[in-house]
Amino acid sequence: MEGFPISIGECCAKNMNGSSLLSAGSPPRYNMVNETQAAANFAETFRDGGSVVKQKPRTIGELREAGYKPHTVKQEIRRNLISRIEAGQEHFPGIIGYGETVLPHLENALLSGQDIIFLGERGQAKSRLIRSLVNLLDDEAPAITGCEINDSPFDPICRHCRDLIASEGEHAEIEWIDRDRRYGEKLATPDITIADLIGEVDPIKVAEGRYLSDELTIHYGLIPRHNRGIFCINELPDLAERIQVGLLNIMEERDVQIRGYRIRLPLDVLVVASANPEDYTNRGRIITPLKDRYGAQIRTHYPKNAEHEIDIVEQERTHFEDDTDRKVDVPQYMKEIVVEITRLARRSPDINQRSGVSVRASIADYEALLANAMRRAIRLKETDVVPRVSDLPFVLPALTGKIEFETVDDGREEQIVDRLIQGAVLAVFNRYFSLGELEPIIARFKAGYAVEVSDMTPSADYVKLMKDTEGLEAAIEKLGARASDPATASAVEFVLEGLHLNKRLNKDKVSGRYQYRG
Ligand SMILES: [Zn+2]
Repeated sequence: MEGFPISIGECCAKNMNGSSLLSAGSPPRYNMVNETQAAANFAETFRDGGSVVKQKPRTIGELREAGYKPHTVKQEIRRNLISRIEAGQEHFPGIIGYGETVLPHLENALLSGQDIIFLGERGQAKSRLIRSLVNLLDDEAPAITGCEINDSPFDPICRHCRDLIASEGEHAEIEWIDRDRRYGEKLATPDITIADLIGEVDPIKVAEGRYLSDELTIHYGLIPRHNRGIFCINELPDLAERIQVGLLNIMEERDVQIRGYRIRLPLDVLVVASANPEDYTNRGRIITPLKDRYGAQIRTHYPKNAEHEIDIVEQERTHFEDDTDRKVDVPQYMKEIVVEITRLARRSPDINQRSGVSVRASIADYEALLANAMRRAIRLKETDVVPRVSDLPFVLPALTGKIEFETVDDGREEQIVDRLIQGAVLAVFNRYFSLGELEPIIARFKAGYAVEVSDMTPSADYVKLMKDTEGLEAAIEKLGARASDPATASAVEFVLEGLHLNKRLNKDKVSGRYQYRG
């Protein structure tokens, strides 16, 4: 997910009391906590005759007078994390299923002030997790006005700011930058240069050869531009070795070689990275000293159980304004089938497991399933949108885009997806029913009965079919699916398909319609 707002991810934040799943929702503002802290809402502490003065310090002198204490970004995150833990607050909102695995390690790494690398296959909420670290920064931080690298008012690095302070001293102006501007990320690719990531000096000045390194003006790259913030590099092993060395120098030595000049650049950045575990551990993909530099290596994972994955899907699926025009009612067994398809795909030898199968596959399948059910409801003028087994083949475009097949044969992909769908329906069906309780239905079909269904068959037809088929009504009752005709239709298909996959009914496909017979 890289780029995924969820990615899905999705994992459940666990609160400090150890309750398991937190409901999704907008991230809590943590002003409440911050009011007790020195820096966060610093300006709010200014009082004049008892009323709060909204004016924040505007110059270095005013900031100093106000008693502002500078701190590193890691100290700042640590302080805010401690406050949140003390207050029992959720600090990784919307993260489902990581409460006992990933989050404790992440919190420990942040408390230790370590740089962090997340190892995991795609679609394991790495990006979401990393972006959520922004919530642990202060609301605003003071920086010297006009500085390209957010220089600290008390300890500027750049030439511009040092010159400014030399001429204006305590009158030099400061600005307050909000925390979103203190986060940056970059997807590593082999063509990234030192200039992109760290910076470049004017080649003409260098050619003239009469400048000292600290007289050279630097065109800053991405990392310095996020000085005093968080910088994330996704897919770290894809960075060229030479650039990895530059990155290490910045993190470790706090200086860097640009065009032969050794330039001191004591940045204050929390560097977070993500990587596929196989690339990261592969000898040669990453230079050892850089690997050493990361204090914490945290392994992410797919949701450990179907419930977590269903929660993520519900949280992350695209919602629309008109969602309320028709009642969307997804039976629990259909949700289970959707995530079971993904879970089977994660074990399939026909699918490339190095790339993995993202939770995004479940989300996209679920959206496709809802869309087909919605299309039916519109066409048949039904009020309820209830997905059925015959909607499942319509996940094909969603799913094939999310996985990499091991095969190159044309047409094989569809077969593989069909098999995953069948496997998922069978597994879920057998959780709900034992064949013995369905014998009356099987007997009816054995006696020469046959029915025909399709994704566009009106729901009322299934209700009639249910009443005509001895034993079927009891099975539908067991699924609790009598709320509406579309719900009944879905349950009828689930039972028929389950019997077919257990080899108790035959099934023929004729031009988009399915016939079940004994
Ligand atoms: Zn500066």
